[in-house]
Amino acid sequence: MSAFSRLRLDGVSRRFGGQAALTDLDLTIEAGEFIALLGPSGCGKSTALNCLAGLLPLTAGSIWQDERRIDTLPPERRGFGMVFQSYALFPHLTVRANIAFGLRMRRLPKEETRRRTEEAVRLVRLEDHVDKLPGQLSGGQQQRVAIARAVVFEPSLVLMDEPLSNLDAKLRLEMRTEIRRLHQSLGLTTIYVTHDQEEALSLADRLVVLREGRVQQVGSPRELHTRPANWHVADFMGYRNLWPGRVEQVDGLRATVGSSGHRLVGEAVGDLRAGVDAVVAVRPEDVRVDGSGEALDALPATIEVVEYQGRELAAEARTDTGLLLHLRTEQRIAPGDQVKLAVDPLRLLVYPADAAQPTD
Ligand code: ATP
Repeated sequence: MSAFSRLRLDGVSRRFGGQAALTDLDLTIEAGEFIALLGPSGCGKSTALNCLAGLLPLTAGSIWQDERRIDTLPPERRGFGMVFQSYALFPHLTVRANIAFGLRMRRLPKEETRRRTEEAVRLVRLEDHVDKLPGQLSGGQQQRVAIARAVVFEPSLVLMDEPLSNLDAKLRLEMRTEIRRLHQSLGLTTIYVTHDQEEALSLADRLVVLREGRVQQVGSPRELHTRPANWHVADFMGYRNLWPGRVEQVDGLRATVGSSGHRLVGEAVGDLRAGVDAVVAVRPEDVRVDGSGEALDALPATIEVVEYQGRELAAEARTDTGLLLHLRTEQRIAPGDQVKLAVDPLRLLVYPADAAQPTD
């Protein structure tokens, strides 16, 4: 398949009966990029990937490889590599034959098929397993075969749908590094679907966050981590503290919010004015314990629950007025401790509220 310099999705939409699964997806991907499609279950990630692969027809919109329209082509004529959660290997074929399958289908000369297959086997480090059947391999090894099979014919685009979710935690981390390494050495344009924000942040050059079939934000890992576009994205990116409140004052980028009897000062993100409902978002690691003296508005609270998480503790604390805070700290704290908590105003984001409500 010929290479391209740009892939463009223009208003891509898909409905199932009366229900919209994906609405008006606009996205331009440069050759060589690693893009993660991220969002909660049912947000339309797999639908988007299947539309790209040609496994699902669009109900509206178009997909372009440079000037060539491709959404009307059948999957095999798009020439994309695909990796699924379920591996989808041929159980009766050896590792070598599974990997060579796509090349045989394309009727490449024998010698080239052999050379490329060996190369792909080396790439995913399966040299010692080429004559085994998939049933004789571990989950991680099977997924390596699936990846080799998807990249062996040097596709212009590789699509991966939750490829690591069947693996245990340790293997998942190893395979994550492996996928990153592969992407760096081959420079393949990759679109990767996951609901795991950490996985997406660590792998992708850019992330696309979906919610209810619509794009919420497209950005670099840093942008998504530090400045989510709305409180739903914040929620998804690990801002465990989401407090409803009312805006008291806005002064440039600084917003003051009343929430559960506390006055909180933070950065206004989006359209805010005095009197409107707001959602305050803070990451647990940005709540400081014992802010006495340093912060104007230190919050007196009682520690309720503490969980060990390696070097850090994850804890929940509640203020006298009932505000629940999730926090992470290296300080030694225990349930029942009275503490003062503070949040740096630069790490406290204030968003306009909408119809949906945050939950603890
Ligand atoms: P998950 O992470 O759970 O796989 P997802 O983000 O990939 O979720 P999709 O599988 O794309 O979500 O589904 C988006 C919406 O479309 C969901 O509401 C789902 O129920 C619906 N949907 C998906 N496929 C079909 C189908 N074949 N028929 C009817 N509805 C479907």
